[in-house]
Amino acid sequence: MTVSARSTNPIRAIDVIRKKRDGGELSRAEIEALVGGYTQGEIPDYQASAWLMAVLLKGMTRAETAALTDGVLRSGEVLDFSDLPVRKIDKHSTGGVGDKTSLVLAPLVAAGGVSVPMISGRGLGHTGGTLDKLEAIPGFNVNLPVARFRKVLEKCGCAMIGQTSEIAPADRKLYALRDVTGTVESPFLICASIMSKKLAEGIDGLVLDVKTGSGAFMKKEEDAAYLAELMVETGERMGKKMVALLTDMDQPLGRHVGNSLEVVEVLEVLQGGGPEDLRNLCIELAAWMFYLGDGTASIDEGRTLSKQLLRSGKALEKFREMVGLQDGDAAAIDDPSRLPRAQHKVDLLSPRAGYVTAIQCEQAGTACVILGGGREKKEDSVDPAVGFVLHKKVGDAVFAGEALCTVHYNSEARGARAQAILQHSYEISDAPLKSRRPLIHRVIGQSGEKN
Ligand code: URA
Repeated sequence: MTVSARSTNPIRAIDVIRKKRDGGELSRAEIEALVGGYTQGEIPDYQASAWLMAVLLKGMTRAETAALTDGVLRSGEVLDFSDLPVRKIDKHSTGGVGDKTSLVLAPLVAAGGVSVPMISGRGLGHTGGTLDKLEAIPGFNVNLPVARFRKVLEKCGCAMIGQTSEIAPADRKLYALRDVTGTVESPFLICASIMSKKLAEGIDGLVLDVKTGSGAFMKKEEDAAYLAELMVETGERMGKKMVALLTDMDQPLGRHVGNSLEVVEVLEVLQGGGPEDLRNLCIELAAWMFYLGDGTASIDEGRTLSKQLLRSGKALEKFREMVGLQDGDAAAIDDPSRLPRAQHKVDLLSPRAGYVTAIQCEQAGTACVILGGGREKKEDSVDPAVGFVLHKKVGDAVFAGEALCTVHYNSEARGARAQAILQHSYEISDAPLKSRRPLIHRVIGQSGEKN
């Protein structure tokens, strides 16, 4: 199949595949021809698959990764908010269990004067998705057209929607192909996929929350660090302010897992409370967002500002405003009993006394999917009400018969399966842990910590 980057210089897909197969470095024109040709249907799935596998096996240079990101980005619409007189900063997480920070960060950072145009995704595998959590708020519309997205952003400083068909269409096609050709795992392909969608938001900077641990896609810290460095460098090459925080996902974040339950915990944090790990991570990520968005002169100032905005209720007020502007039930922000609730609850009891030394986080996420809180197949619908609340987390002491967690369920069969998985995911030992994993493992980019 022949495709042309320039009409005078046709580039053949077979030559690009062979060059990558043999470990060569592709030019920008070759990458553009491949991505453009595939998106327009000129290159068939079998050639694109061969090329993806060659990339997975041989890797890419930084220049190739940037060219691929750019090619995928330019396959669709790139939003332009440059006329808005404030900085636009977003946050992206590589996905976890109980990770509800986006719902706190968008209103928190907007309340501090930095705009947040956020385009998010749905749950993937055992991890939860921001859109599914937002949709637990009755009426909340994540499908705003771009013109309305802009209006909400102008009015309240933050807006949260799902990916539109106009944004990075090449990624949709390539991702679907990667999913069935064993090529999802390439850090170069992950980087181009994530960064193309984020850069299409018209942002000035991006804070990456790259998860590591038993509930993360990148379980090993060195793999997470490699991906973080790749994404930071790719974003910087494209003129964006970038930083990545490597954060812990070796147990669920916070205590609530499941869409509606997670909204309840978000409201606790926005009211100045909430569990310490979730609250501290939100403050750290917001501090970096303020710093990249020139809202504060240092990270420490950003932390102070974040705490003030949470304590004063200004962040909560901003969330209420955004929910109202996106057709959600704003009254649910002050009265969480208006959020969906499961019909049944059961406590999972500890079989023995001791100390919690681990919660297998991927298993815990899978338990939520089995309850119906995530999708087992793409076309499944999500039950917003189900999930679980952890009463015991890693490091806690527990008595025999004490509740480890409470499972919220709507189907007896699903409830029983989830309980069995959660029971296995808790590891209880006689001795307490000698040391705890830090919440923030490393900061990559922006020369590390800036106090
Ligand atoms: N999320 C994405 O959007 N793309 C990937 O390739 C992996 C995770």
